Amino acid sequence: MPLAAQPDTAPPPAATLESTDPATGEVVGRFPVADAAAVGAAVDRARTAAQAWAALGYDGRRRRLAAWRGHLARHLDELADLVHRENGKPHEDAVLEITLAVDHLAWAAAHARRVLGPRRVRAGLLAANHAASLEYQPLGVVGVIGPWNYPVFTPMGSIAYALAAGNAVVFKPSEHTPAVGVRLAESWRAAVPDLPDVLQALPGDGATGAALCRAGVGKLAFTGSAATGRRVMAACAETLTPVLMELGGKDAMIVDDDADVAAAADAAVWGAMSNAGQTCIGIERVYATEAVHDAFVAEVTRRVQRLEPGTSYGPMTMAAQADVVRRHVEDAVAAGGRIGAGGTDPGTGRTVAPVVLLDVPETSAAVREETFGPTLTITRVRDAEEALALANGNPHGLAGAVFSRSRRRALDLARRMRSGMTSVNSVLTFAAVPALPFGGVGESGFGRIHGEDGLREFTRAKAITRQRVPLPVPLMSFDRPAGATAALARFVRLVHGRHR
Ligand code: NDP
Repeated sequence: MPLAAQPDTAPPPAATLESTDPATGEVVGRFPVADAAAVGAAVDRARTAAQAWAALGYDGRRRRLAAWRGHLARHLDELADLVHRENGKPHEDAVLEITLAVDHLAWAAAHARRVLGPRRVRAGLLAANHAASLEYQPLGVVGVIGPWNYPVFTPMGSIAYALAAGNAVVFKPSEHTPAVGVRLAESWRAAVPDLPDVLQALPGDGATGAALCRAGVGKLAFTGSAATGRRVMAACAETLTPVLMELGGKDAMIVDDDADVAAAADAAVWGAMSNAGQTCIGIERVYATEAVHDAFVAEVTRRVQRLEPGTSYGPMTMAAQADVVRRHVEDAVAAGGRIGAGGTDPGTGRTVAPVVLLDVPETSAAVREETFGPTLTITRVRDAEEALALANGNPHGLAGAVFSRSRRRALDLARRMRSGMTSVNSVLTFAAVPALPFGGVGESGFGRIHGEDGLREFTRAKAITRQRVPLPVPLMSFDRPAGATAALARFVRLVHGRHR
């Protein structure tokens, strides 16, 4: 029987997105996929909301951001439960992630006026008759595209700072964690009912993200892989939309001769294996000097053997990521690497057993490429200088860590590490310091979230001069008297000419 003809005006059925619990396969959320029209409509609503949000000023925004922070804190356990179910990480780790995000929200709201508000600057000698001022104005609507590994903390690094800077946000969560993204926007609406469209979440797939890139937002803040980052930049280039790129990492830890080996091992195991290794700033490579290598490996092995699936770490959020981890382990072993702890078979299915790899050649995928799983390569080096050279030899440059008891030596190594962030005698700590900027170099991207730089990232600098008194001798006028520029040249020679 022929199908009944659809009237031309009937909208096509919306595609549906389903997220599942990586541990059980149970459906966590079902959402319509936002198409280009839905993205355009959301950005239009956000544009209107952005005007009202900006007009509130710093105090009005701070009050509402505080209300949102309060709402998130009061519902922390429910949100953590959702993160646990949709991403797979243990509930306790989800609590830690949300706590950090709330702290960043508090900092961004508290410091926005000081960092971005109007301030006088010195006009300088040539414009001494003017007052000069600088302020950082919001961009309007900021598009945020986020990953699934820290579905609250990572997008909040952009959302909190963009909102505090006076922008509205349209957020496209990862298709693996849409329910968390939608819950964030719901909590905003519950806490700030007078301006519900200042933060909207649009579940969808890659095409939804691509539509957001083309929707004419003031800036697109992307967090994800370098491969997708390139596609996002290409799409944004069509409309000259500026971008912020928070991309992957291959972070290294240097363990120097005088390091506290037990502390370094503890930090390396946490940095590599927590969140099942799905951390952009996770430790993936360790370079340990001759003096400490064997003791460090023994300590790491002891600690890795104590890890329990389910309590220490959850399943991989994406099945495909588990395959990447297995490929890297196989490749490392085929290239001559040894298994230090864990097994050659990191398990089947989504739960990947932690694996420590020793003597892996620097050319192998396990050392070169982001693994994003619970693996750690440990390489013996002559000294910290060799460690630094190898650490810096990777195209990524997100973060890293240095372990040494000498403050001077550790800070020197930290400064010379090719990365946006480095922790000394700990791992990942910079992410918990709201005043510090977060972002990478090279394949890890550019631009900064968090801290003062993170607030400015979502603004445009606005410069204003105001003439206080006219100059007796106008220089920038067709009425300029003859000889005025000769006098100016004499003045410049007097002030600057003596410098050699
Ligand atoms: P992806 O690059 O696969 O995806 C990131 C986001 O981009 C997702 O929301 C995805 O949507 C979306 N997307 C996919 N295709 C397009 C497209 N063509 N145009 C626009 N958007 C698109 O990364 P993952 O989600 O797998 O996240 C893991 C990566 O993120 C790792 O490399 C990790 O290191 C990095 N990361 C970096 C951080 C940092 O701060 N530097 C922090 C956290 C993670 P969909 O899911 O629907 O495909």
